[in-house]
Amino acid sequence: MITSKLPATGTTIFTVMSALAKEHGAINLSQGFPDFPCPPALQAALERYIEEGFNQYAHMAGAISLRQAIANKVALTYGATINPETDVTVTAGGTQAIFTAIAATVHTGDEVIYFTPAYDSYAPAILLQGGKPIAIELQHPSYQIPWQQVKDATTPRTRMIIINTPHNPSGTVMTAADMRTLQDLVRDTNILILSDEVYEHIVFDGARHESALRFPELAARSFVVYSFGKTYHVTGWKMGYCIAPEALMREFRKVHQYLVFSVNHPAQLAFGEIMETQPKLWQELPQFYQRKRDLFIKHLQGSRFTIRPSQGTYFQLLGYENITDEPDTALAERWTKEIGVASIPVSVFYDPAVQSKVLRFCFAKSDDVLEAAAEKLCKI
Ligand code: GLN
Repeated sequence: MITSKLPATGTTIFTVMSALAKEHGAINLSQGFPDFPCPPALQAALERYIEEGFNQYAHMAGAISLRQAIANKVALTYGATINPETDVTVTAGGTQAIFTAIAATVHTGDEVIYFTPAYDSYAPAILLQGGKPIAIELQHPSYQIPWQQVKDATTPRTRMIIINTPHNPSGTVMTAADMRTLQDLVRDTNILILSDEVYEHIVFDGARHESALRFPELAARSFVVYSFGKTYHVTGWKMGYCIAPEALMREFRKVHQYLVFSVNHPAQLAFGEIMETQPKLWQELPQFYQRKRDLFIKHLQGSRFTIRPSQGTYFQLLGYENITDEPDTALAERWTKEIGVASIPVSVFYDPAVQSKVLRFCFAKSDDVLEAAAEKLCKI
């Protein structure tokens, strides 16, 4: 009756685990989303823009006030000069931006290099374009990029390399040296970069986020993807943006205009306003989440898990090699039911699955939730 375009793809693990957590009344540290309220200033601005009647389509590429605020912010944070008219498009979240960038540039037979464990939308997006996902494995526990292997994997068919820093699910960050190596590797090629930087402000221990936008040669060939959901605790608003040089963004918008056309107008105006008036909301995010990470880890001290503190993102990996030999998918399910804490099995982020005996836990939760979860995990 129907020939699937994605025969090997099931329901995303985030939906599966959140549903299981709900069914069993477990503490949900699986799918990544905060349980904190939306900043009051953002909510007030949204209500005001609705009240003032900004309830019809925004400009296809995004409200210009928001695009200007984005340009101001990347100039301030990454020293990057972008033209708000031509180089930025507001999207319905990071995942849409990723899909759109791939759909706009990957042709049938093109190869796209990406690193596993990887966010689960990358490979299906490549496959839907007739592209060939080329997975390069990052080894637990360091998850460092094996650059020689990347170099060896590039061919004349390589159209794109997808990077993700801070990295979901491992919680590692790319260094300036990594970025320079990548820059050298793609010099004199036609390889595009898709840089997934949705956790840009969640970087710990004084490290600096090494955005592709900081490296002019990389920025000149990159789609860089950001998310308002992660920065402003509103993942349910599904808003983000993509930055790329004009020639790339022109192609991106050809797809964007027929995929979503434009996104929520009053919310765009609200984000534009608070980006300008409340910079503390993102400036204070590293400390805010570092405290959460440290609290979660402190309360796990009496547990049998092995813990390497996350360097970025709001995820912490916990190794269970001292506890059981069970595969992580079965274990995540069993512990959701029996222990009452839901997590994400990391093996699902590999293709084919690699067993590494680690589970991913989201610590974007209020202190009492983290303490209650840690208490349960300590009993294992
Ligand atoms: N990025 C989030 C995570 O990794 C979830 C995104 C989603 O559920 N689509 O948990």
